[in-house]
Amino acid sequence: MHRRTFIKSAGLLAAAQLTGMTSISALKALENTLAPSERMPVLFVGHGNPMNAIEDNSYTQTWGRMGKDILKRGKPQAILVVSAHWLTRGTLVTAMEHPKTIHDFGGFPQALFDQQYKAPGSPDMARYTKDIITATTVGLDHEWGLDHGSWSVLLPMFPAADIPVYQLSIDYGRPIHFHYQLGQQLSRLRDKGVLIMGSGNIVHNLGRVNWSGDGKIYDWAAEFDARFKEWMDKGDHTSLIDYQKLLGATAQMAHPTNDHLLPLYYVLGLQQKGEKLSYFNDTIDMGSISMRSMIMEG
Ligand code: ZN
Repeated sequence: MHRRTFIKSAGLLAAAQLTGMTSISALKALENTLAPSERMPVLFVGHGNPMNAIEDNSYTQTWGRMGKDILKRGKPQAILVVSAHWLTRGTLVTAMEHPKTIHDFGGFPQALFDQQYKAPGSPDMARYTKDIITATTVGLDHEWGLDHGSWSVLLPMFPAADIPVYQLSIDYGRPIHFHYQLGQQLSRLRDKGVLIMGSGNIVHNLGRVNWSGDGKIYDWAAEFDARFKEWMDKGDHTSLIDYQKLLGATAQMAHPTNDHLLPLYYVLGLQQKGEKLSYFNDTIDMGSISMRSMIMEG
């Protein structure tokens, strides 16, 4: 990461504010100092069971391959995660130098609680992200860190933990369209070397998890997942946003609460004309958790 550039930029921004430059010109000045980058792809990852962080299975093997592929094409300067596990009132962005690893779950083996993901944060990118969002006022957060929606995927994907990571929270009281629009406003980050990742699940009903091990998938889970794929293939964002109206009882079963679906709308908001989605891990785990994930690029 271009630390020195960022430090200089932050100083520049402060100076601009002191001399009474408009916030737009201050933002421009800051932006001009950021290193340009090839447009970064965008990821949506179905994270599922927190144990994926330490298990060697088909999901984590794919995450590992995906991480290597991305690094081969150009190392991101930072990773911004929108995780289903950070729901807030208002929109926040983590702005600490050293985000802590949050073990936000219970009933798992000690080995999972022992995990730490020691990637640095990116206070400067956090400030820049706050500045480019106009749909709402974004607060800088110094308390959160990396919840398991982030680190349980990043650990198998980027095990070196040497890329700065920061998170954007989900303002849970807002309608779906708000999250979609906020996603659109993150677009500039992709040209600044930021890899944006939504982390949730396209079908997520923990109450109906099939523990029997017989591999049976609920009809409503398969149907919801298939409809979402169909709409994503067509780029039909209107139907994706209106899914509750269009899928009724099936939608209610797939998402009794839609916290795990909301990160998807940030990714959809970022989709440019002609950009394709390539799917991976497109299976349904334990009957009611869709692991369908995708990488989006032009
Ligand atoms: Zn989760």
